[in-house]
Amino acid sequence: MAPPDPVLDHEVVIVGAGPVGLLLACLLAQDGVDVVVCEKREGEDPRSRAIGIHPPGLAVLDRAGIGSAVRAGALALAGGDVLSRGRVLASLSFPAERPVLVLPQQRTHALLRGRLDEVSPTALRAGCTVHGVRDEGGFVRLRVDVGARRRELTAAFAVLADGVRSGLRAELGLGWRRRAGRARYAMADVPDPTAGSRALLHCGPGGLVESFPLPGGLRRWVVRTVEGEDLTTADGFGAAIRARTGTDTALGPDVVPVSFLAAQHLVRTPVRGRIAVLGDAAHEISPIGGQGMNLGWMDAGRLARALGTALARRDAELGDYARATVRAARAAQRRSAFYMSMGAPAPVPAARARETLIRALGTAPLRPWAAGLVTMRGL
Ligand SMILES: Cc1cc2nc3c(=O)[nH]c(=O)nc-3n(C[C@H](O)[C@H](O)[C@H](O)COP(=O)(O)OP(=O)(O)OC[C@H]3O[C@@H](n4cnc5c(N)ncnc54)[C@H](O)[C@@H]3O)c2cc1C
Repeated sequence: MAPPDPVLDHEVVIVGAGPVGLLLACLLAQDGVDVVVCEKREGEDPRSRAIGIHPPGLAVLDRAGIGSAVRAGALALAGGDVLSRGRVLASLSFPAERPVLVLPQQRTHALLRGRLDEVSPTALRAGCTVHGVRDEGGFVRLRVDVGARRRELTAAFAVLADGVRSGLRAELGLGWRRRAGRARYAMADVPDPTAGSRALLHCGPGGLVESFPLPGGLRRWVVRTVEGEDLTTADGFGAAIRARTGTDTALGPDVVPVSFLAAQHLVRTPVRGRIAVLGDAAHEISPIGGQGMNLGWMDAGRLARALGTALARRDAELGDYARATVRAARAAQRRSAFYMSMGAPAPVPAARARETLIRALGTAPLRPWAAGLVTMRGL
């Protein structure tokens, strides 16, 4: 690799230390790239979000040297069952060589931070908010606040990994197109010593109820919100699960379900000159299907290679990063929109037609294809 340009502060500045920005930083730093990550938060992100880690995401974690730590902390899903009106319609198994792992995002995040500290102890700048980024032709200039101090940083490349609500994407006018798939859900992670190792997806007429075992004797419930329902109390949430699945969850009064809107968007211009958009800032994928973080990691793997090549050649060419990112995001969004439609509330005749389709997907000839779909094969 060519030596870094002595005039610039860094070779790459990443905006946002979410799981995707952090993974890119690990990949670049371990290859000797001078990279810093600006993160506006000082502390941990308290939100409970991603849990599912699929084989292509795991492959990039392996490349960054934390695959084994993730495997050691995660629960490996044995498989999943799709049910409707009390009957199992389809069952999938996840073989050990193509595992689906379950690990709460905060734990994954802690492993990524630990790895970045190992490969580049000063790369992460917490409490550092980026207010503006400009491509100056041969380099990029970022306006940054560190506490009360405003300063400028220069780099050969800037990567915007600042999440779904990316202010920098909006400021640069990179476009944010709405894609099919939009619905509201509620979610809670609750103690359940009987959680086992299979995911259950109830796709009955009342609307989707998902249930995933988590490590440490916990279970995540996700429930599709139907018009007029309040699922943000333990009572309302438990009642909806009981009505749709017959399961009595006996949620304690201290359980506070979180409501979230699942929506899908795609950036119009993922790369402009020396500025690349990455992760949720590039594509919002509905959490139904659990692909957003994994897709971001796959993009990070591609972008690390493209940046390495561009830095070595001292040019601004990021190869097919933009095209490959858009192609994979569109495919993931189509899959998520399909999963969401399979769990939409439906009158019984429509639910019956849906049951027939799900049964067909669970038959021996189609099962491997369905398992590939769920485990992000081909993205
Ligand atoms: C309920 C739920 C369940 C999910 N489940 C799954 C799942 O099972 N599997 C899966 O793959 N995905 C899942 N996802 C999606 C996953 O959580 C996201 O795809 C992932 O967090 C995106 O990571 P990111 O690093 O791109 O963005 P983020 O995690 O949003 O990180 C962006 C970071 O940028 C920082 N930032 C923002 N602006 C600035 C600025 N101007 N300067 C400095 N820092 C800034 C923010 O503070 C933040 O830390 C789920 C999402 C939800 C909501």
